[in-house]
Amino acid sequence: MRIYGSNLVSYYQRKNQYLRFYKNKTLWLDIPNFKFQLKIMNRLLLFISLALQLGCGSVKEVKTANAQLLKDVEILSSDEYEGRKSGTKGSELSRAYLVKRLKEIGVEAHSVLGKYEQNFDIKGRNSVTKGVNLISYVKGKTDDVIVVSAHYDHIGIINNEIYNGADDNASGVAALLSIAKHFKEHQPNNTIIFALFDAEEVGLQGAKAFVANPPVALEKIKLNINMDMISHNDKSELYAVGTFKYPQLKKYLITTNPNIKLMLGHDDPKLGHDDWTNQSDQGAFNAKNIPFIYFGVEDHKDYHKATDEFKNINQTFYTDAVSVIQEVILNIDKQRDIQSIFRETLQMKKQ
Ligand SMILES: [Zn+2]
Repeated sequence: MRIYGSNLVSYYQRKNQYLRFYKNKTLWLDIPNFKFQLKIMNRLLLFISLALQLGCGSVKEVKTANAQLLKDVEILSSDEYEGRKSGTKGSELSRAYLVKRLKEIGVEAHSVLGKYEQNFDIKGRNSVTKGVNLISYVKGKTDDVIVVSAHYDHIGIINNEIYNGADDNASGVAALLSIAKHFKEHQPNNTIIFALFDAEEVGLQGAKAFVANPPVALEKIKLNINMDMISHNDKSELYAVGTFKYPQLKKYLITTNPNIKLMLGHDDPKLGHDDWTNQSDQGAFNAKNIPFIYFGVEDHKDYHKATDEFKNINQTFYTDAVSVIQEVILNIDKQRDIQSIFRETLQMKKQ
């Protein structure tokens, strides 16, 4: 939101400055120089209007992106999607919506898969159902891969109540779409795979199927950034989990957005259940020793309740949180050779 503020302030400041300048200029007008001054003035006006258009453009862009983010969360967590439980009609509807959005954004299916859908079996206690991940990607300047992920499944209908899962995890899914759009428009250094996982709620099964059968060699995957529940917190706290195991990542976990408290933690094994390391899809990457950062909020009153609805998320916190996550990914992507982040520390330890 700071972006709007500063742009508006500078818009009026600039406008006033130009008006003052223009006034002064007219006082200097004299007949012999009139034509010359008119020419300068015309150019100046052209420049001003261009500059103002550019300034307003970026405000408009941010506003449009935020509106789309909220719209995606609202749609995916509406009753029509019946809580997106794996293997249900609601899950199928979500996929149809997500495939439409991926196509709109223009991110492609990976050539190895040939389509967005990656099918796998979800194993229940006494049954097997069909699970479907949706995988897309943006080619970077190198073949090193960052996997940005979010699970789109939730827990469906229980006792005739729809568990809409707005925060868990329509919020992460919509964020992934927004970040995919950014990188489609601004090519990253690293190749980014965008993975929308199914069956997280039944034991991270979509993410496990992905790392068991990835579209690129597993060694190429240098980092997983997972988002799960990023829209609901009353204290403006967003957690980044993973620096206990990978302290090298701390220097990239910085933001220029003053509205979000970016917290590190929930990743020390001594914390027991409060260690979130393996509690969402990043756990499947961690099991393969792939470094990860998981973004999420503390559990809240609506966590895994039917009240986890669109109307209960914190909209401003959410749009700010997404901008912070995107900023962190950009910070890391600037490092062309991600492996070196982790190599440096190994060498330091050896010395
Ligand atoms: Zn979740």
